[in-house]
Amino acid sequence: MIPYDLHIHTEFCGHAPGMSVEVLVRRADELGLETIAITDHLYAATGLPLLTAIRAELSQCSHRCRVIVGAEVDVDGDFGDGRLVTDELSACDYVIAGFHYVPTVGNYPHSPDDCTMPPEDFLKLWRTALLGVVSNPKIHTLAHPARIVAAAVNLDDWFDEVLMTLAEAAKVSAKNRIAWEINELTGSRLSDYYRQRWHVIYKIALDAGVKLVFGSDSHSPEAMGQSAFAEEILSRFPPGSLSTPDEILNR
Ligand SMILES: [Zn+2]
Ligand SMILES: [Zn+2]
Repeated sequence: MIPYDLHIHTEFCGHAPGMSVEVLVRRADELGLETIAITDHLYAATGLPLLTAIRAELSQCSHRCRVIVGAEVDVDGDFGDGRLVTDELSACDYVIAGFHYVPTVGNYPHSPDDCTMPPEDFLKLWRTALLGVVSNPKIHTLAHPARIVAAAVNLDDWFDEVLMTLAEAAKVSAKNRIAWEINELTGSRLSDYYRQRWHVIYKIALDAGVKLVFGSDSHSPEAMGQSAFAEEILSRFPPGSLSTPDEILNR
């Protein structure tokens, strides 16, 4: 079992019903997790009071586990350079970059049909934006690497090109000490074929010297503690390939 989880949402985000701070820390204690990070979505600079609200709820509950208050900060979908929706992140103890939107178009692609630009154009923009994201030293971790690509283009046609871009991004990530997240939720978004190949992305990361960190991306109490997809990926690598929370936070 992975003794921590650095990617957990709360009901503040609007799509994680039942995930009050009290419920999720109680669940973390039941599971025996040593460290968790509450990383709700930050969709815009105006969302920063969210962190204050989470800290206020946290101060009202007792818990054994160490709780880090961070955020999954959106990559700004209005631009193609990978900037985050805000640079004012001093209240955020752990910053993960959530790349969710088609750059410059700004929509959330559920399938290649939702991507209104040709795949060649999307992949060019994705590359530029991704390299921008991993150049931002305020970011600790790149959330769910390449999940957006798996949604926006047909991987059967583009997987090799995607891996080449990821290799470029891994070099930049290593330089800026930005970790890559092994994200449990991504496992449920992939076909069997790519679920079994997703480890190649983390091989690219490890070879470039990028640290790996685990996050469940839980939006419900039941999802917490689940790590089958992540553990399958990690089983392909030497013991110790997964970094500890302190290695990620005290870089
Ligand atoms: Zn996300
Ligand atoms: Zn998330």
